[in-house]
Amino acid sequence: MSAAPKKDPAAVEAEVREKIHLEILKRTGAYHANDHVLLPSGQHTSEYIEKTLVTTEPSFTEGLGAVIAKHFAQWPVDVVLSTGPGALILSHCVARAHPSRPVVVYGTKGLSGGKRRVSLPVEFHRLLRPGTKVLLVEDLVSTGSTLNLLIELAEQLGAQIAGVGCLWRRTSVDLGGRPVFSLVSRDFPTYSPEECPLCRKGIPLNEEFVRRRTHRKASAVQEPRAF
Ligand SMILES: [Zn+2]
Repeated sequence: MSAAPKKDPAAVEAEVREKIHLEILKRTGAYHANDHVLLPSGQHTSEYIEKTLVTTEPSFTEGLGAVIAKHFAQWPVDVVLSTGPGALILSHCVARAHPSRPVVVYGTKGLSGGKRRVSLPVEFHRLLRPGTKVLLVEDLVSTGSTLNLLIELAEQLGAQIAGVGCLWRRTSVDLGGRPVFSLVSRDFPTYSPEECPLCRKGIPLNEEFVRRRTHRKASAVQEPRAF
């Protein structure tokens, strides 16, 4: 029997890793596949991820955090920096598993002059100094705008970005060429309602996520990430 053509081992590993992590996210109820979902943008898609559910299972989050920490284990890290509740839970797990025993620091999101911004509580300022090595951690990266604000914030204080670790990112996200490690890198195919193949098949449209999002906005809790 002739040997099958060998795939690049790194690509195979990434593929396997991604399958495992998608399965984990499915078990938290966060990842929906084979659906027909209305997105906040009005586009339709077959996949959706509910950000708030991603970090609800401590043992999963710890396991995923350890994978991210292992990836960055060879680099010294002084500080793990994130923002948002889910990312902070994951940050703790990454920091706990990293051999440098970094501290965990978070920025707070807000609006200033109509623009989104991230600021660092003043108590944390002494932890981010010139030369401090920072690992950024995020749960889901959809546009990269929060991460870019965090990068800006850390660099303004003179810190160095050791890398960015996340659970999920859209492959199209640009983070200025910084080393990014994500457990899942995936873009959902999205369709305009006129061109949606799922509509054409007559599959009922799931508007649940948009409804939930509107409801949350109305009650002025926290702005959920548009995915
Ligand atoms: Zn559709």
